Amino acid sequence: MRVVLLGTAAGGGFPRWNCACARCAAARDGKLPTRTPECAAVTGNSRDWWLLNASPDLRAQLTAAPVLWPRARRTPVRGVLLTDAEPDHVAGLAVLRGTPGLKAYAAPPVLTTLTPARVALHRHAPWEWADSLAEGGFVLAGGLVVTAHPVAGEAPAYVPVRASDDRWVTAYRIEDLATGGVLVYAPRLGAWTPMLDDLIETADCVVLDGTHFATDGAAPDGRRPPAPGSAGSLAALARHPHARRIYTHLADTNPLLDPASTACARVAETGVEVLPDGAELVL
Ligand SMILES: [Zn+2]
Repeated sequence: MRVVLLGTAAGGGFPRWNCACARCAAARDGKLPTRTPECAAVTGNSRDWWLLNASPDLRAQLTAAPVLWPRARRTPVRGVLLTDAEPDHVAGLAVLRGTPGLKAYAAPPVLTTLTPARVALHRHAPWEWADSLAEGGFVLAGGLVVTAHPVAGEAPAYVPVRASDDRWVTAYRIEDLATGGVLVYAPRLGAWTPMLDDLIETADCVVLDGTHFATDGAAPDGRRPPAPGSAGSLAALARHPHARRIYTHLADTNPLLDPASTACARVAETGVEVLPDGAELVL
Protein backbone atom coordinates (compact mmCIF):
# COMPACT_ATOMS: atom_id res chain seq x y z
CA MET A 1 0.00 0.00 0.00
CA ARG A 2 1.16 3.49 -0.85
CA VAL A 3 -0.10 6.55 0.98
CA VAL A 4 0.50 10.16 -0.05
CA LEU A 5 -0.12 12.87 2.54
CA LEU A 6 -1.56 15.49 0.18
CA GLY A 7 -2.20 18.02 2.95
CA THR A 8 -1.37 18.12 6.66
CA ALA A 9 -2.84 21.36 8.05
CA ALA A 10 -6.09 21.90 9.93
CA GLY A 11 -8.95 23.88 8.41
CA GLY A 12 -7.80 26.88 6.41
CA GLY A 13 -4.33 25.50 5.72
CA PHE A 14 -1.06 27.11 6.79
CA PRO A 15 -0.73 30.04 6.59
CA ARG A 16 -4.42 30.82 6.95
CA TRP A 17 -5.43 33.51 4.48
CA ASN A 18 -6.80 35.91 7.11
CA CYS A 19 -4.35 35.32 9.95
CA ALA A 20 -1.41 37.53 10.92
CA CYS A 21 -0.10 35.41 13.80
CA ALA A 22 3.67 34.98 14.06
CA ARG A 23 3.63 31.47 12.59
CA CYS A 24 1.40 32.37 9.63
CA ALA A 25 3.63 35.41 8.96
CA ALA A 26 6.74 33.22 9.10
CA ALA A 27 5.17 30.81 6.62
CA ARG A 28 4.41 33.71 4.24
CA ASP A 29 8.04 34.82 4.58
CA GLY A 30 9.25 31.35 3.63
CA LYS A 31 10.68 30.69 7.10
CA LEU A 32 8.30 27.81 7.89
CA PRO A 33 6.99 25.16 5.47
CA THR A 34 3.48 25.92 4.20
CA ARG A 35 0.81 23.24 4.39
CA THR A 36 -2.50 22.67 2.64
CA PRO A 37 -5.62 21.37 4.44
CA GLU A 38 -5.41 17.75 5.55
CA CYS A 39 -6.16 15.21 2.83
CA ALA A 40 -4.46 12.00 1.67
CA ALA A 41 -4.52 9.40 -1.09
CA VAL A 42 -4.06 5.64 -0.79
CA THR A 43 -3.62 2.75 -3.23
CA GLY A 44 -3.04 -0.99 -3.11
CA ASN A 45 -1.88 -1.41 -6.70
CA SER A 46 -0.49 2.02 -7.79
CA ARG A 47 -3.30 2.25 -10.37
CA ASP A 48 -6.50 2.73 -8.38
CA TRP A 49 -6.21 5.61 -5.90
CA TRP A 50 -8.67 6.56 -3.17
CA LEU A 51 -8.79 9.96 -1.52
CA LEU A 52 -9.09 10.30 2.23
CA ASN A 53 -11.16 13.49 2.54
CA ALA A 54 -11.51 16.16 -0.15
CA SER A 55 -9.91 19.45 0.88
CA PRO A 56 -10.68 22.89 -0.60
CA ASP A 57 -7.15 22.80 -2.08
CA LEU A 58 -7.71 19.43 -3.77
CA ARG A 59 -7.03 20.70 -7.30
CA ALA A 60 -3.59 22.01 -6.30
CA GLN A 61 -2.91 18.89 -4.22
CA LEU A 62 -3.69 16.58 -7.14
CA THR A 63 -1.58 18.73 -9.44
CA ALA A 64 1.37 18.47 -7.04
CA ALA A 65 1.21 14.64 -6.91
CA PRO A 66 2.33 13.04 -10.22
CA VAL A 67 0.98 9.62 -9.18
CA LEU A 68 -2.51 11.14 -9.27
CA TRP A 69 -2.23 12.72 -12.70
CA PRO A 70 -4.66 11.45 -15.35
CA ARG A 71 -3.27 9.01 -17.89
CA ALA A 72 -4.83 8.33 -21.29
CA ARG A 73 -7.57 10.83 -20.42
CA ARG A 74 -8.60 8.88 -17.33
CA THR A 75 -7.96 9.80 -13.73
CA PRO A 76 -6.56 7.16 -11.36
CA VAL A 77 -8.84 8.58 -8.63
CA ARG A 78 -11.62 6.08 -8.01
CA GLY A 79 -13.40 7.80 -5.14
CA VAL A 80 -13.31 9.37 -1.70
CA LEU A 81 -13.54 8.19 1.89
CA LEU A 82 -14.84 10.98 4.13
CA THR A 83 -14.04 11.04 7.84
CA ASP A 84 -16.69 13.69 8.60
CA ALA A 85 -18.68 16.54 7.04
CA GLU A 86 -16.41 19.47 7.98
CA PRO A 87 -16.13 22.04 5.16
CA ASP A 88 -12.37 21.45 4.92
CA HIS A 89 -13.01 17.75 4.30
CA VAL A 90 -15.84 17.98 1.78
CA ALA A 91 -15.34 21.24 -0.17
CA GLY A 92 -13.00 19.45 -2.59
CA LEU A 93 -15.86 17.24 -3.78
CA ALA A 94 -16.76 20.18 -6.02
CA VAL A 95 -13.30 19.87 -7.64
CA LEU A 96 -14.16 16.28 -8.61
CA ARG A 97 -17.55 17.12 -10.11
CA GLY A 98 -18.25 15.90 -13.61
CA THR A 99 -16.15 12.74 -13.26
CA PRO A 100 -18.57 9.84 -13.70
CA GLY A 101 -18.38 6.64 -11.69
CA LEU A 102 -16.64 7.87 -8.57
CA LYS A 103 -17.59 6.16 -5.32
CA ALA A 104 -17.85 8.03 -2.04
CA TYR A 105 -18.02 6.53 1.45
CA ALA A 106 -19.22 8.31 4.59
CA ALA A 107 -21.07 7.60 7.82
CA PRO A 108 -24.90 7.94 7.82
CA PRO A 109 -25.12 11.42 9.46
CA VAL A 110 -22.52 12.73 6.98
CA LEU A 111 -24.40 11.23 4.02
CA THR A 112 -27.63 12.86 5.22
CA THR A 113 -26.00 16.24 5.80
CA LEU A 114 -24.43 16.20 2.34
CA THR A 115 -27.74 15.47 0.57
CA PRO A 116 -28.00 18.92 -1.11
CA ALA A 117 -24.37 18.68 -2.31
CA ARG A 118 -24.93 15.11 -3.52
CA VAL A 119 -27.93 16.25 -5.57
CA ALA A 120 -25.87 19.07 -7.09
CA LEU A 121 -22.91 16.78 -7.86
CA HIS A 122 -25.22 14.22 -9.45
CA ARG A 123 -26.27 16.81 -12.00
CA HIS A 124 -22.65 16.93 -13.21
CA ALA A 125 -22.08 13.15 -13.22
CA PRO A 126 -23.52 10.14 -11.39
CA TRP A 127 -21.56 8.93 -8.37
CA GLU A 128 -22.23 6.08 -6.03
CA TRP A 129 -22.55 6.88 -2.32
CA ALA A 130 -22.17 4.22 0.35
CA ASP A 131 -22.38 3.86 4.12
CA SER A 132 -18.84 3.60 5.45
CA LEU A 133 -20.12 1.96 8.64
CA ALA A 134 -21.94 -0.88 6.85
CA GLU A 135 -21.53 -4.21 8.60
CA GLY A 136 -18.33 -6.00 7.62
CA GLY A 137 -16.63 -2.99 6.05
CA PHE A 138 -15.93 -2.71 2.33
CA VAL A 139 -13.33 -3.55 -0.30
CA LEU A 140 -11.75 -0.96 -2.59
CA ALA A 141 -10.46 -1.56 -6.11
CA GLY A 142 -6.75 -2.23 -5.77
CA GLY A 143 -7.09 -4.79 -2.98
CA LEU A 144 -7.73 -2.66 0.08
CA VAL A 145 -10.10 -3.80 2.85
CA VAL A 146 -11.57 -0.97 4.89
CA THR A 147 -13.49 -0.62 8.13
CA ALA A 148 -14.71 2.69 9.59
CA HIS A 149 -14.82 3.41 13.31
CA PRO A 150 -16.69 6.25 15.07
CA VAL A 151 -14.25 8.42 17.02
CA ALA A 152 -16.17 11.63 17.84
CA GLY A 153 -19.73 12.93 18.02
CA GLU A 154 -19.08 16.54 17.06
CA ALA A 155 -21.32 17.76 14.21
CA PRO A 156 -20.13 20.53 11.87
CA ALA A 157 -21.14 24.04 12.94
CA TYR A 158 -23.24 24.53 9.80
CA VAL A 159 -25.63 21.70 10.67
CA PRO A 160 -28.79 23.48 11.92
CA VAL A 161 -30.15 20.79 14.22
CA ARG A 162 -27.25 18.97 15.76
CA ALA A 163 -28.72 15.76 17.08
CA SER A 164 -26.42 13.73 19.26
CA ASP A 165 -24.77 11.04 17.17
CA ASP A 166 -21.42 9.40 17.88
CA ARG A 167 -20.93 8.70 14.17
CA TRP A 168 -20.24 12.27 13.03
CA VAL A 169 -16.49 11.64 12.89
CA THR A 170 -14.90 8.33 11.91
CA ALA A 171 -11.42 6.87 11.56
CA TYR A 172 -10.51 4.38 8.82
CA ARG A 173 -8.55 1.14 9.12
CA ILE A 174 -7.21 0.20 5.70
CA GLU A 175 -5.53 -3.15 5.09
CA ASP A 176 -3.62 -4.16 1.98
CA LEU A 177 -4.58 -7.77 1.24
CA ALA A 178 -1.36 -8.36 -0.70
CA THR A 179 1.21 -7.02 1.76
CA GLY A 180 -0.78 -7.24 5.00
CA GLY A 181 0.10 -3.59 5.67
CA VAL A 182 -2.42 -1.71 7.81
CA LEU A 183 -2.99 2.06 7.93
CA VAL A 184 -5.16 3.78 10.53
CA TYR A 185 -6.21 7.24 9.34
CA ALA A 186 -7.74 9.38 12.11
CA PRO A 187 -7.25 13.08 11.38
CA ARG A 188 -9.94 14.13 13.85
CA LEU A 189 -10.50 12.60 17.25
CA GLY A 190 -12.62 13.16 20.31
CA ALA A 191 -11.57 11.52 23.54
CA TRP A 192 -8.97 8.78 23.45
CA THR A 193 -10.66 5.39 23.90
CA PRO A 194 -9.49 1.79 24.32
CA MET A 195 -10.90 1.19 20.83
CA LEU A 196 -8.15 3.46 19.45
CA ASP A 197 -5.50 1.44 21.26
CA ASP A 198 -6.98 -1.73 19.75
CA LEU A 199 -6.98 -0.20 16.26
CA ILE A 200 -3.39 1.00 16.50
CA GLU A 201 -2.22 -2.27 18.03
CA THR A 202 -2.87 -4.03 14.72
CA ALA A 203 -1.58 -1.18 12.53
CA ASP A 204 1.77 -0.61 10.84
CA CYS A 205 1.14 3.11 10.57
CA VAL A 206 -1.24 5.60 12.15
CA VAL A 207 -1.88 9.11 10.83
CA LEU A 208 -3.45 10.95 13.73
CA ASP A 209 -5.18 14.17 14.80
CA GLY A 210 -2.45 16.64 15.78
CA THR A 211 -4.64 19.75 15.67
CA HIS A 212 -3.67 21.23 19.00
CA PHE A 213 -0.64 21.21 21.22
CA ALA A 214 -1.38 21.23 24.93
CA THR A 215 0.74 23.67 26.87
CA ASP A 216 -1.05 23.43 30.18
CA GLY A 217 0.42 21.47 33.05
CA ALA A 218 3.71 19.61 33.01
CA ALA A 219 2.98 17.37 30.07
CA PRO A 220 3.11 19.22 26.76
CA ASP A 221 1.58 17.05 24.15
CA GLY A 222 0.83 16.60 20.48
CA ARG A 223 -2.72 17.78 20.98
CA ARG A 224 -4.98 18.99 23.75
CA PRO A 225 -5.44 16.32 26.41
CA PRO A 226 -8.32 14.28 25.01
CA ALA A 227 -9.72 13.42 28.42
CA PRO A 228 -9.35 14.77 31.95
CA GLY A 229 -6.51 13.07 33.74
CA SER A 230 -5.07 11.76 30.52
CA ALA A 231 -1.57 12.69 29.45
CA GLY A 232 -2.87 13.14 25.89
CA SER A 233 -2.33 11.44 22.56
CA LEU A 234 1.46 11.58 22.66
CA ALA A 235 1.50 9.44 25.80
CA ALA A 236 -1.06 7.14 24.22
CA LEU A 237 1.04 6.82 21.07
CA ALA A 238 4.07 5.96 23.19
CA ARG A 239 2.27 2.69 24.01
CA HIS A 240 2.57 1.62 20.37
CA PRO A 241 6.25 1.87 19.40
CA HIS A 242 5.86 -0.90 16.79
CA ALA A 243 3.77 1.39 14.54
CA ARG A 244 4.90 4.34 12.48
CA ARG A 245 3.04 7.28 14.06
CA ILE A 246 2.45 10.58 12.27
CA TYR A 247 0.59 13.74 13.28
CA THR A 248 -1.56 15.54 10.73
CA HIS A 249 -4.30 18.23 10.71
CA LEU A 250 -1.98 20.78 12.41
CA ALA A 251 -3.58 24.11 13.42
CA ASP A 252 -1.62 27.35 13.01
CA THR A 253 -1.44 27.56 16.83
CA ASN A 254 0.57 24.32 16.91
CA PRO A 255 4.33 24.74 17.57
CA LEU A 256 4.91 21.48 15.67
CA LEU A 257 4.66 23.62 12.52
CA ASP A 258 8.17 24.86 13.37
CA PRO A 259 10.72 22.06 12.83
CA ALA A 260 13.16 23.89 15.14
CA SER A 261 10.71 24.06 18.08
CA THR A 262 11.24 22.25 21.37
CA ALA A 263 7.77 20.77 20.79
CA CYS A 264 9.04 19.07 17.65
CA ALA A 265 12.06 17.74 19.51
CA ARG A 266 9.86 16.32 22.24
CA VAL A 267 7.52 14.61 19.79
CA ALA A 268 10.48 13.22 17.84
CA GLU A 269 11.91 11.76 21.08
CA THR A 270 8.76 9.66 21.33
CA GLY A 271 9.29 8.47 17.79
CA VAL A 272 6.25 10.32 16.46
CA GLU A 273 6.69 12.12 13.13
CA VAL A 274 5.55 15.40 11.62
CA LEU A 275 5.91 15.13 7.84
CA PRO A 276 5.59 17.72 5.07
CA ASP A 277 2.82 17.85 2.48
CA GLY A 278 3.53 15.37 -0.29
CA ALA A 279 5.24 12.78 1.93
CA GLU A 280 4.74 9.20 0.72
CA LEU A 281 4.49 6.12 2.95
CA VAL A 282 4.78 2.47 1.86
CA LEU A 283 3.12 -0.22 3.99
ZN1 LIG B 1 -2.05 32.13 12.07
